[in-house]
Formats: sequence, C-alpha cells, structure tokens
Amino acid sequence: MPILEVAIKLPLHRTFDYLISEIGDLRPGMRVQVSFANRKCTALVLAIKSHSDVPPEKLKTISSVLDKQPVLTPPHIAFLQFVAQYYCHPIGDTFFTALPAVLREGGHPDKTQIPTISLTEKGKTLPTLRSKKQQALLSQLTHGGEIKLSELKALGFAAQTIKSLEEKALIEQTIVHDKDWTEQTLALGDKPTLNEQQATICSAVNAQQGYRTFLVEGVTGSGKTEVYLQCLENVLAQGKQALVLVPEIGLTPQTVNRFKKRFQNMPIDLWHSNLTDNERLHTWRRAEQGSNALVIGTRSAIFLPFKHLGMIIVDEEHDSSFKQQDGLKYHARDLAVYRAHQQQCPLLLGTATPALDTLQKALSNKYQLLSLTKRAQTQQDNQFHLVDMKGQPQQCGLSPMSIHWMQKTLNRGKQVMVFLNRRGFAPTLMCHECGWLNTCQHCSTSATYHRAMNRLVCHHCGEQDFVPKQCPDCGSTQIIPNGVGTEQLEQFLTEQFTDIPLTRIDRDSTRKKGSLESALDEINQGGARILVGTQMLAKGHHFADVSLVIILDVDSGLYSCDFRATEQMAQLITQVAGRAGRAGEAGTVLLQTHFPEHPLLQDLINNGYGDFARYALQEREEALLPPFAHLVIIRAEATNVNFVLRFLSDLVPATPYPGIQLLGPIPAPLERIAGKYRYQLHIHAQQRPVLHDYLAQLARYMSEHELANRVKWSIDVDPMDTY
Ligand code: ADP
Ligand code: ZN
Ligand code: ZN
Repeated sequence: MPILEVAIKLPLHRTFDYLISEIGDLRPGMRVQVSFANRKCTALVLAIKSHSDVPPEKLKTISSVLDKQPVLTPPHIAFLQFVAQYYCHPIGDTFFTALPAVLREGGHPDKTQIPTISLTEKGKTLPTLRSKKQQALLSQLTHGGEIKLSELKALGFAAQTIKSLEEKALIEQTIVHDKDWTEQTLALGDKPTLNEQQATICSAVNAQQGYRTFLVEGVTGSGKTEVYLQCLENVLAQGKQALVLVPEIGLTPQTVNRFKKRFQNMPIDLWHSNLTDNERLHTWRRAEQGSNALVIGTRSAIFLPFKHLGMIIVDEEHDSSFKQQDGLKYHARDLAVYRAHQQQCPLLLGTATPALDTLQKALSNKYQLLSLTKRAQTQQDNQFHLVDMKGQPQQCGLSPMSIHWMQKTLNRGKQVMVFLNRRGFAPTLMCHECGWLNTCQHCSTSATYHRAMNRLVCHHCGEQDFVPKQCPDCGSTQIIPNGVGTEQLEQFLTEQFTDIPLTRIDRDSTRKKGSLESALDEINQGGARILVGTQMLAKGHHFADVSLVIILDVDSGLYSCDFRATEQMAQLITQVAGRAGRAGEAGTVLLQTHFPEHPLLQDLINNGYGDFARYALQEREEALLPPFAHLVIIRAEATNVNFVLRFLSDLVPATPYPGIQLLGPIPAPLERIAGKYRYQLHIHAQQRPVLHDYLAQLARYMSEHELANRVKWSIDVDPMDTY
C-alpha cells in the first residue's frame, strides 16, 4: 500500500507516516483526516512514498481525504519546510501556523463571499453630515473606494458609525465578484515626477530580472513610499502580484489610501490581525488564484500563497514587529528574502534607519544599497541638542532648559512632543522612611503605579494590586511615587501649561477601540498642542505642526544588558525626530542624558543614523555579535528553578561541539515573571550550516528530555532581544 508522509499540528520535530488504500487523485499539499493518539485531526500530505521506517503492521490508515485540490503548491510546501528547519520549529506547527484557521481546522477551502462596503448614489453626492465620524467615513470611501467591513474597522471606524450611514442609505453592502485584472490597463491616480535619486532607484529596480534585494536607505520624508508606488506600477502593469509588508502600527488609513488612490482599478487586499477567519480565507484564496493585485499586510502576510508574485516590499524593515515573539518565532523580513529568491523577483527593504543586520548585508554587497538623502519636499534638517542632566534640578523628569524650550515653542503656536517610554504614573512606589520598594510578588520587578485606576499594575504578568496605605516594612504612611511615567508627565504638564490642550498616547490611553485614531485626528487638526506619549507616538504618523521633540530617557538605551539596545535607541531617536519639522521649517530635538559625551550619541546627533550605524557595526564586529556571528537563544522557564537549571545544563555537552560556543545557563534579565523562573542558553556560531546541524540534534534531544514536559522551553533563532 502507498504511504503518506504527513504533518500534524503537534509540538514535535517530526512527520508521521500513514497508509492509504488507494491513492486516486491524492497529491502533496492536500489535507487528510487521520487519527492520532485516539483523536481525529487534520493533517497535511507532504509526500507520497513507498517505504516507511515504521514496520507496516504498526502503520494506521488515514480516515478520509479532505481536499479535491491541494491547498498548498509544491513550492509553498518547500518554503514552509525551510521555515521549520531554519527556525528549528516543529514541522506540523509550522504548516498549521501558516494556514488560515478555516483550512487548519479542516474547513472547506472554497471562497466564502465577503461583502464590501461602498457608497450609494446618494452617498456619492457627499452630503455634509453633522457627525464628524460619519463624515470621515464618507470621505474614506470617496478616497479609498469599496472596502471590506473588517478593513474599515481596522482603520478605526466604529460599527455604529457604519450602521448609521447604512440607515441613511449613504453606503451599502454588496458582494463584489472577482474579475480578471491582469488584462486591464492601470488606471493611475495623480503622481509626482520623481526626483533624480528616486528615478535612479526605480530604474535600478525595474531593470532587475529575477531575484535581488535592494535596501532603500532614505531619511523620513525622502519619498520612499513614492518609490514603492512607481516600482509597483511596473509590476502590476505586467499582470504580476505584489506584497507590501508594513509594521503593525503602520497600517494606517493614510498609507492604505495612498496605494488605493494610485492604483484605482486594482484589487487591493489588506491583511492584519483584525480579519475574521472567513475574510482571511478569502484573501488567502484570492492570493492563490491571482485575484488580488496587491496585498498590504502585517508580518503573517509573508505566508500568503501568491500565484504570480512579482515583488515584495518591506516598509520600515528595521521594525521589531516583523519578528513574531512566540510560537513560530519567524522574522517576516528575513523570510521575504527566501520568498523573493524562490519566486525570482525583487525585494525592496525600505527604512530611514536600517537594522544593523540589513545594513551589513548591503555594505558587503549581498544586497544593493540605494540611498535617498534629501527630503522630497524642501525642508531643513532638524537640529539636535543634548541636554546634560548631570546635577540639574528636575521637574517631573524635565530639565529647566527643556521646559524653557517648550514655553518658547508653544508661544509661537507650534506643537511639542514629549516622549517617554514608560507608561503609568510612576514605575515604583517607595517608602520615604525606610526605602521599601513595591515589587511584584510574582516577578523580579516592581509593579507600576497607575494613579487614574489607583492600582499597582505589573507590566510583566498583569497582576493588579491595591495601593498600600502604609509601608509593609516600617508602617510609615509616607508612600511616594518613585520615577516618572507618562501619566505623571501628563499631570505635570497640564498644571505647568494650564491653557494648552494636551493629548497623551500610550497603551493605557488608547485601550478603547478607535481612541488612537481619534487622538491622532485631534492632533492633526491642531486641537492638541502638547503630545505626551510612549513609542506608540514615535512610529509612522505624520504630524504637520510639531516643531519641538523632547526625548526624556535616552540613557536607558545606552546602558542596557541587551546588545541591540543602542541600535533600537538610535532608531527610535531618529524616527521620533522625523516627526518634527515636517511642514517646511526645521524642527528641534532635545535629548536629555547624563552622558552627553557618549561617542555613539555624539555620532548619532552630529553625523546622523547612517554614520552611527556604520560605527556601531564595527563595535559588533569586534565583539563578535550578530550580524558577525549567529545567535540562538534557548529559553526555559518553570516554577521549580531546579528543573530549569537541570534541563538547560543537560543541553551543554561534556566536550564542545566544533564551531559552536555555548553560554549558560544564565538567568534572563527578568529572572522571574508570573512566578516562573526563567533561564537561557546562548548559542553562538560563525557558520549557519554548522549551527543548523547542531540545532536539529539539540531539538530532538530536548523534546525527548525527561523534563521536556515540565519546563516550558523554546528556541529563538536570530532573536530580536535577549529578554
Ligand atoms: P517617505 O515614505 O520616505 O517618508 P513619502 O513618499 O511619504 O516619503 O514622501 C514624503 C512627501 O513628499 C509626500 O507628501 C509625497 O507625496 C511627497 N513626494 C514624494 N516624492 C515626491 C516627488 N518626486 N515630487 C514631489 N513630491 C514628492
Ligand atoms: Zn517603610
Ligand atoms: Zn508581575
């Protein structure tokens, strides 16, 4: 009897063999139902073969075949096999992570019909409405065209707003059937003439036959998006599909509408975490059948099975949201390289602040480096100032100089942005008498004081507690906040600048759906003049009137145990600074630091990110850190610290493995979270193949270890951080 090699969604680093009575039309990439450990489960056929290492009498027969057509093509199977091998992740779990939920659970692959929302004839007359939100929705549909319900929601429109407009018969839901777009000539919206640098990039990319990765290093506002659009134009005109990956926070109406306005008659799909299961399947199948021209999506869009992929673009390629932090720990940008190579198409990585890993590949000519050095619309460069905080009096973390600059800027009627990467009121509470600090009971860290809720909240395990009236150690009632969070900063600035409207943007203030969008709206309409926020404020948004940016806590990035901290700090400073001075005049950026003479800071502010990054790369090379060595972190955690230590120690071989350096077990920077002890093993290697051979052996050994089920462990290849 023929034998099927299948992948089953299990945390095991292996495939399974089953028998089938008659092969019929069965092909790899189809789903079958099998019984495993007395449970029925969906499995994916990877290969059909005549021999199994398992004796025939032990093999079971599959229960049924679920598909008439494969749900994955052979190249896509090869891609996912590569993913599993590269990230040393269980093969079944890899396949089933990539598949949309409906297919994962054995559902029917035929496309469900997804209604889209569009303007009615009455809506097209664009009546003036009293509700601002309803007006905004009309304007979205006018500029962005028909759109799926969930996409509207992802863009921040509330269900109620949509319903109200439906009741007024200004918008309607319709089912749009796929039509063949590949034969159509592109209907293009207005576009600017490219400047010389942009034109050079576009012709280099458009002339590319087959695979090549380009790094477009261009300062904020230098016209990268315009370059993407004009490169895409060439791809779509050939009837090929394209994928644009954006960071989680980058999927804004502004971005999406730019694509929709440019490619007016092209089917464009969005892919993000807010889609329903049916919508996900719908877009997956449209990609597979070539029915969509362009998909704009967050990281998991890299798994979409395009029929004719002609280009991949990764915008803000340095952004850490491209790396999945749990389960299958893949990096969408890195997988984009494999896919572009497999599909023999160009890959564009664009950013103002390239990741050091990417830059190194560009500098060593593995990727082609293309630069945009000037802002597209004439603009002066921002001025950086380091504010030496040593011995300075501080008010709520702000130096007198910073407050003075704020006053001056506000007097001129401009907006000010104050950036602090710590939410809550204060990072700890402290006893003024004896120095007691409130630590979380379950974690080796303190719980943050949230004044609005009047609670202590641990940002690591989520535990909430009442604020003690008395010190548990000495009984004193003088419990005071220690340190500054955004909530406190907001309070201080409201008192300091009484008449000036302020908006705070962080995870707490934007918890309600749509609240981020309305806060951003308010900022853009000039309603708020002081903006206080965490890194949420830093990314991707365009604020026209901000002319002063103050960054409060630069030092935490300079002296951190994480080797990527300085890189991320520099990216953040550059990105935040890019928010300033966008409307013609130069902006000012104040960096508060106790280490104004720090060479990396000096380099960054005097010579810019590009120079900083090249210098930082030298440091990495001397320390043999990534990208000059490859790093893998094995993480393990359990309530019982001995289990964790024994498990990790057992992984360290008695004699060293050639080409592999091991460090550990070492405690994680946060040794305890939610009551669990966390330790790590760091694996360094110069050569990828050596590393991957070693990892494959290690993974097998780990899954068979006696403690494998009592310790929660994971393998992180090319980790983004060491936490
Ligand atoms: P980036 O993506 O690098 O931040 P954008 O593509 O958004 O830059 O360009 C910044 C601004 O300059 C946008 O308003 C864009 O429309 C405009 N722009 C870009 N390229 C040109 C050009 N060649 N001529 C005129 N305006 C341009
Ligand atoms: Zn005390
Ligand atoms: Zn905690």
